[in-house]
Amino acid sequence: MQRPVFAANWKMHHGPSDARAFLRSFLAHYARRPDRQVIFFPPAVSLAAVVDGLRERQDIQVGVQNIHWEDKGAYTGETSAGMARDAGADLALVGHSERRHVFGETDEQTAAKVAAAVRAGLVPMLCVGEKLEERERGETESVVLRQLRAGIAKVEPHAVAGMLFAYEPVWAIGTGRNATPDDAAAIHGVIRRELLSILGEKAKAVPILYGGSVNRGNAQALLQAADVGGLLVGGASLDSEGWSTIVRT
Ligand code: PEP
Repeated sequence: MQRPVFAANWKMHHGPSDARAFLRSFLAHYARRPDRQVIFFPPAVSLAAVVDGLRERQDIQVGVQNIHWEDKGAYTGETSAGMARDAGADLALVGHSERRHVFGETDEQTAAKVAAAVRAGLVPMLCVGEKLEERERGETESVVLRQLRAGIAKVEPHAVAGMLFAYEPVWAIGTGRNATPDDAAAIHGVIRRELLSILGEKAKAVPILYGGSVNRGNAQALLQAADVGGLLVGGASLDSEGWSTIVRT
């Protein structure tokens, strides 16, 4: 069995000073555990502080929340995958619902970002998930499959086999309303079957995380759902003690 992945998406919280303080407290509460994979996605400006704060803890990985699809150029305010890699990131979050629905990121741009991450040696974590109105129209499966297929369209299957995926229903993100373990299992099953059709047996080892209002009360049940290989957590990852409790689930 794969070890579960616990990924903290800090969104636009925790600048460098807060990030350092968070890690001092978190590391005091979380001893190295080989049966867990822990990842932090801090804001880009805090990457260096987090990489530095984790220099004695190579068991914990760091990712960037967003990258541009080009390797360099006149894109004021943007960060390339290569720059994030140079700053110490191992992974890149791609297609988060806030990127798609607040910043208008398209499937095409998401695919280009996945390809840029792979070119730079970052592992992409591709997020997919339906909006409430899409769910109510019975379109969950088709939306998730469209985003998944589009997101990996520009990379080779061997790169897909090294990626991580996250199912994050938009209606569950930051709302306090999580998917039930059964709902999560159903959609994770859809994603797994699609990956199996592309990758064969290798797809069984690809982590598919659930994200959307995970907290210390529901983490265990969600983690036990079929095909849920980890948790991607926003709000509940901002407090070091609470996050260390979730990671020890
Ligand atoms: C997220 O930002 O990826 C997320 C799942 O947020 P929250 O846990 O706050 O719903």
